[in-house]
Amino acid sequence: SAREAGEPRWRRYDASLHAQVLDRRQLLAELTQAVADGGLRMDYQPIVELGSGRTVGFEALARWPHPARGMVSPVEFIPVAEESGLIIELGAWVLHTSVREAASWDSGHYVSVNVSVRQFHAPGFVERVHRELASSGLPAGRLTLEITESLLLGDQDQIHADLARLRAAGIRVSIDDFGTGYSSLSYLHRVPVDTLKLDKSFVDTITTSPQQHDLVRGILRMADTLSLAVVAEGIETEEEHRLLREAGCAYGQGFLFARPLTGADARARMRSEAG
Ligand code: C2E
Ligand code: MG
Ligand code: MG
Ligand code: MG
Repeated sequence: SAREAGEPRWRRYDASLHAQVLDRRQLLAELTQAVADGGLRMDYQPIVELGSGRTVGFEALARWPHPARGMVSPVEFIPVAEESGLIIELGAWVLHTSVREAASWDSGHYVSVNVSVRQFHAPGFVERVHRELASSGLPAGRLTLEITESLLLGDQDQIHADLARLRAAGIRVSIDDFGTGYSSLSYLHRVPVDTLKLDKSFVDTITTSPQQHDLVRGILRMADTLSLAVVAEGIETEEEHRLLREAGCAYGQGFLFARPLTGADARARMRSEAG
């Protein structure tokens, strides 16, 4: 290895860092192109009622089928977009596309759209949401915006005011990946949101750890007290499904029920459930 050959540590580190920077720059250039050329698409993952198994809504998830890299995960490209500011344009496209898609569903299902911190803070974000609803004809009650706990760490007054404006119009707000960030349970009653999305890490451990099981039950009780709905994320097994249902969790999402679907497959699912 380089180390055995006497090459100093920093040089190896520096070389790999350099490669990473180049790759990120390259990825950003290609992503910018993809956003401009219609190279992204949205998939829609069912959110189900855990009692009945019926689909109540869909989370819109960005997909980047890359000609050479294959399917690039949003875990990779969303942070690159967020860091560079491209997320403003990408996020606007995501909102536009998801809201139009949902407006075409005659079944009344809602769409849940991820909003990044920088996108939320961009000037005119709230107005843009209202414009998309007005131009598509989607009723506000069929749009949920997923924000992260990290957003809530910002300027509280401003953020709460924006969230209140969205909710006054009938749009629902959901805290994504709940439990992974810094928001304390005790201040949730002051945050104007409707739903908690219980992070997959809780779902993963609920079957093996009694402490986690207790913690989840505590979160569900607290959510109930605060009149917040809970959607459990990443349910993969019947056992997880059963424990969550027994703990009083009303909604869930995960590969057990369905993977993210293309728009056409999502419509087919709604039709087949309508019978
Ligand atoms: P998220 O918002 O928490 O979305 C849920 C993620 O969990 C999705 O990953 C979904 O495919 C995955 N998932 C759902 N059920 C299961 C399961 O049972 N098992 C496992 N292992 N995974 C499951 P995805 O689509 O790769 O997205 C990852 C993250 O990228 C999202 O996490 C979200 O933070 C971000 N993201 C995706 N699309 C967008 C977008 O349009 N805008 C923004 N701002 N962020 C996005
Ligand atoms: Mg989400
Ligand atoms: Mg999530
Ligand atoms: Mg997650």
